[in-house]
Amino acid sequence: MKKILGWIPALVVCGGVLFITQRFMSARHPQEPIQKMTRFLMDTYCIMQVPGDASVRDSMTQAFDRLEEIDKKFNALNPTSPVYRFNHENSPITDPEIVGLVQTALDVSAKSDGALDITVFPLVDLWGFYGSTPHLPGDGKIQACLKHVGWKNLAIEGGKLIKHRPDMALDFGAIAKGYGVGEAVKVLKNCGIRSALVDAGGDLYMLGTRYGKPWHVGIREPRGTGVFGGMKLTDRSMATSGDYERYFIKAGVRYHHIFDPKTGYPAHGLISATAITPDPTLADAYSTALFVLGAERALKLVATTPDLECVLVTEAGRVLISPRLQKSMAMTDLTLAGQTGK
Ligand code: ADP
Ligand code: MG
Repeated sequence: MKKILGWIPALVVCGGVLFITQRFMSARHPQEPIQKMTRFLMDTYCIMQVPGDASVRDSMTQAFDRLEEIDKKFNALNPTSPVYRFNHENSPITDPEIVGLVQTALDVSAKSDGALDITVFPLVDLWGFYGSTPHLPGDGKIQACLKHVGWKNLAIEGGKLIKHRPDMALDFGAIAKGYGVGEAVKVLKNCGIRSALVDAGGDLYMLGTRYGKPWHVGIREPRGTGVFGGMKLTDRSMATSGDYERYFIKAGVRYHHIFDPKTGYPAHGLISATAITPDPTLADAYSTALFVLGAERALKLVATTPDLECVLVTEAGRVLISPRLQKSMAMTDLTLAGQTGK
């Protein structure tokens, strides 16, 4: 569903973030082989790279299998998942893994004043973003729908997830990919792998180094075909939320898939928000939250959250980098030439 809307440059197979130095690596450095595997999961291309010879591929397959398990479990559209039953039949969720991820999401909801809200399912559904033809609903319908949205109506009691309103429903789209990346990395580590780059459609984790050098990654230009702002990272995750992944344009206005849960409309102000932090689940959750908050509130949240950094692109094409990131990790090749507009 995800990649069929909007525009997709041929070069870019993953979401907001992509590698800028890995291409043709093996050919250029035959003494430094990289194993690369791709699977389409979680509505996007997931790519894993592990330095080493073919013997690491078994471990990569195991990591992908774990990612696939998470995809099935957290997919609200999968009728066999407990999430689907919770959404449609109001049965409480007892699976500790799901309850744990909901708790993480609720923590970020509280910190971001509800900018991240995994109860947006009815909104995403109303706007048609679960199908292939999203559309602009009437304002009355949007306002009525907002009554069914609200993270404060979820509760975890005795390890069980319940909802205070039966018409509420969960959507893990803003957090499950990051969680999946973290779990895949755990599998790789358990298999003895010390270096890897795992990417689930723009949710990345850089484990260790690539033959002694930090992984070099870039952020996708929101209105271009390349990258801007290269960064060298090790044992870090990076996730980007943007208005270019799934959208439609009506009467010159771009409507995309990341909603402001307070208004019921797509969030505006930023066109791309990248979060950088050690934990991939949090990187994913915060990239969405920062996008919804807009530049000023996003930078405030980052300033008060330990270990969280960001790179934001405003509607006017300004690139804002959190002050600690400016000091500690030099961004390279920061160019975003005239790329605004719809
Ligand atoms: P992507 O999935 O494109 O990488 P995100 O991580 O920001 O981007 O997740 C966006 C998805 O999360 C949407 O497709 C939708 O399913 C869901 N979503 C939209 N708005 C919100 C929100 N404010 N809080 C939580 N989930 C959201
Ligand atoms: Mg996210």
